[in-house]
Amino acid sequence: MEVKENLSVIKENIITACRQAGRNPEDVHLVAVTKYVTAERAQEAIEAGILHLGENRDEGLSEKYERIGQKAIWHFIGSLQSRKVKQIIDKVSYIHSLDRLSLAKEIDKRAEAPVRCFVQVNTSGEESKHGIKPEETISFIRACSEYPAIQIAGLMTMAPNTDDTSAIRQTFQRLRELKEEVQGLGLAHAPCTELSMGMSNDYMIAIEEGATFIRIGSSLVG
Ligand SMILES: *Cc1c(COP(=O)(O)O)cnc(C)c1O
Repeated sequence: MEVKENLSVIKENIITACRQAGRNPEDVHLVAVTKYVTAERAQEAIEAGILHLGENRDEGLSEKYERIGQKAIWHFIGSLQSRKVKQIIDKVSYIHSLDRLSLAKEIDKRAEAPVRCFVQVNTSGEESKHGIKPEETISFIRACSEYPAIQIAGLMTMAPNTDDTSAIRQTFQRLRELKEEVQGLGLAHAPCTELSMGMSNDYMIAIEEGATFIRIGSSLVG
């Protein structure tokens, strides 16, 4: 399928989910996750009108960045090793996987301007998932104030691998409650207005629960 065709289906679904939730579709940003595909395919996504591209490895990011450069807004979505920070930091606008202070420290050391970060929270409790524990989120975010380049744009989570939609919904609701709690603190370094949640299989639920960035790979670019 052409990206264009997939995109029009997804756009319709975004509108449907927003209508369901009484939200404005303009508040939902679509990040095309290009980690499985070639730079050509990523380029096709840009030509279809997609603004945001997401990669989870520094190699994939560099390869696509070389071709597409500033025509996209780049998101780093995967678990990030500290030693890889210097390879990606001048390319990305958002990092979705901040999950430890040693990483915040390294980003702060390498960044020349504030970096919008999502704190990855393990709201499903699955052992295999990265992210900090929900109950540690607030203290983690407070501790990040020590690093001037870290701006907490929002929170990110991944739903559990299950067909149980109510379990999926709960993990998204939990993230939203946490986001509101952080917002309520009024911390200068943590506006925390955004929610990065929802992938190919669950983005409509995520939108219903308040997602502002959805990260879609397989159903959009393959
Ligand atoms: C791969 C990936 C996605 C996209 O997953 P799909 O199911 O292909 O839409 C989203 N977020 C993260 C963190 C990923 O690693």
